[in-house]
Amino acid sequence: MRLSKIFIPTTKEAPADAVIPSHVLMMRAGMIRPLAAGIYSFLPFGYRMIKKVCEIIRREMDAIGGQEFHLPALNPKEIWEKTGRVEAFGDILFHVKNRDYVLAPTHEEIIAEIAANHVKSYRDLPQIWYQIQTKFRNEPRPRSGVIRGRQFLMKDSYSLDRDWEGLDKSYELHAEAYRKIFSACKLKFFEVGASSGAMGGTGSQEFMVESEAGEDTCVICDNCGYAANVEIAKANSTPYKRDDNSESLKEIHTPNVKTIDELAEFLKIPTTKCAKSRVYIHNDTPILVLMLGNDEVNEEKLRIALGAGKIRPAHPEELSEITGADAGSIGPIETNLQIIADIKLKGANNMVSGANKNDYHISGIDFDRDLSNIKYYDIHYVQEGDLCVNCKSPLRVVKAIELGHIFKLGTKYSEALGAKFLDEKGEEHPIVMGSYGIGVERIIACLIEQNHDEKGIIWPKEIAPFQVHLIGVNMKNDEIRSTCEKLYFEMNESDIEVLYDDREDVSAGYKFNDADLIGIPLQVIVGEKNLAKNKVEIKHRATGNKKLVEIGLLIRTLQDELFLP
Ligand code: ATP
Ligand code: MG
Repeated sequence: MRLSKIFIPTTKEAPADAVIPSHVLMMRAGMIRPLAAGIYSFLPFGYRMIKKVCEIIRREMDAIGGQEFHLPALNPKEIWEKTGRVEAFGDILFHVKNRDYVLAPTHEEIIAEIAANHVKSYRDLPQIWYQIQTKFRNEPRPRSGVIRGRQFLMKDSYSLDRDWEGLDKSYELHAEAYRKIFSACKLKFFEVGASSGAMGGTGSQEFMVESEAGEDTCVICDNCGYAANVEIAKANSTPYKRDDNSESLKEIHTPNVKTIDELAEFLKIPTTKCAKSRVYIHNDTPILVLMLGNDEVNEEKLRIALGAGKIRPAHPEELSEITGADAGSIGPIETNLQIIADIKLKGANNMVSGANKNDYHISGIDFDRDLSNIKYYDIHYVQEGDLCVNCKSPLRVVKAIELGHIFKLGTKYSEALGAKFLDEKGEEHPIVMGSYGIGVERIIACLIEQNHDEKGIIWPKEIAPFQVHLIGVNMKNDEIRSTCEKLYFEMNESDIEVLYDDREDVSAGYKFNDADLIGIPLQVIVGEKNLAKNKVEIKHRATGNKKLVEIGLLIRTLQDELFLP
């Protein structure tokens, strides 16, 4: 491809709303242009990368027996009502005004509908159906460029099985395919188990990339590979170091003391001698939750610990009726509430907490001696430096971007839409489904997040829009031009993907800056001085290393560098 012909509008600056490196560089390298908030056009250079990523995805999906579909994005609303998801998606769902249609944010419903009409017998199962298609979600905060768009490309696949064992297999096939896809895309990723939330499944896993631009927080152990979303991450908790002697309970007047920091300051004790009390409502029943010092309640862990049901923090106006005191003076002594305490408090003594009387606290609380109606669970957030549950190495807490998600859906959608099959005995069962998604644009953005410097993008050799960037330093020089034309021809003949900067009216410095910005892994520079010695220069974009090569040996050298046969 000649740079004089391909439309790559590079720029020196990026618009002010582009703050993260991938957004800035995709704009500057002429890959994308915004149309409206969260809506982007992919220009030819950007779209080349989309096609490369899709090729890898298709290869791996086909390898696990996936069959490619193309489902409509415009869906009758009725079908989404059958599964209750018009309500579940709420404002995220785009509605089409003049008819009862919605723009699909995902495709479980349509797959279940096709299965309901056309999958009849156990002989038709299992199936893996996938597509790569545009999804629409009216994200409340579209940002970070294509990482959170309101229209984006997703590879979504769906498995149809006769039973849960079948689903387990389809799920594992996907997990393995996902690892291959992200590895082939040269991404450093990690996997976390996740709670499947609104999708209504029973098992799910997310594939994440560590990035400052991420909106998820994860806990990672660099030693053994343990990783989890902070919502459910566990750490090795060290047992509480009890004082040798337990004091007796004592009520203390603590005027205007509300927070743990104020309490510790007032009594001149460490915050780890204070127990923070929070009231939650679990299925209409109030419970008292105790945390060590300033630890926050991890509500997801609390929800899991309590098993089924709904949970919410009590409203401030409910507190005094439930406990006799306002926030800041609530505590575990003289209460009838069920107490749920964080595991870090097990065995604690000489603790201070609220007295259930405004402006009073109680000291000398011995958790073993004084609190009977109490259960201990791990309900705190893991913090940087806590020790890994598996190997006790220090954990890191990092921001991360979700690249892909695999869910065991079960029968929610097949039951709502009547997707059933007959078994060998003629008995009818709902099809057991799985659902699996990958964000195509996110792969590209994450690749840039992980591979760039102050000059621009640095595509890995294995996945780049082009492999070689051929630069004629001065195209008005006949010898340079004819050498470049010859090399360009030879590279194309040898199946090397080459972008050829044949522009006449652009200075050498400008060409070099553009080359570093758009980041093709190998640059071949044809200049007057080296040409006189019958040589050209190869520059590695990643390291900046340069070497001179005999023109006659160039193609072989490039093939070796690019691991081509
Ligand atoms: P997030 O938590 O980031 O909103 P999600 O849980 O809503 O993601 P899924 O419904 O599981 O995402 O969609 C599958 C994949 O589609 C995600 O893993 C992600 O790579 C991609 N994706 C989801 N929402 C967007 C978006 N708004 N823009 C770009 N890609 C997206
Ligand atoms: Mg989302």
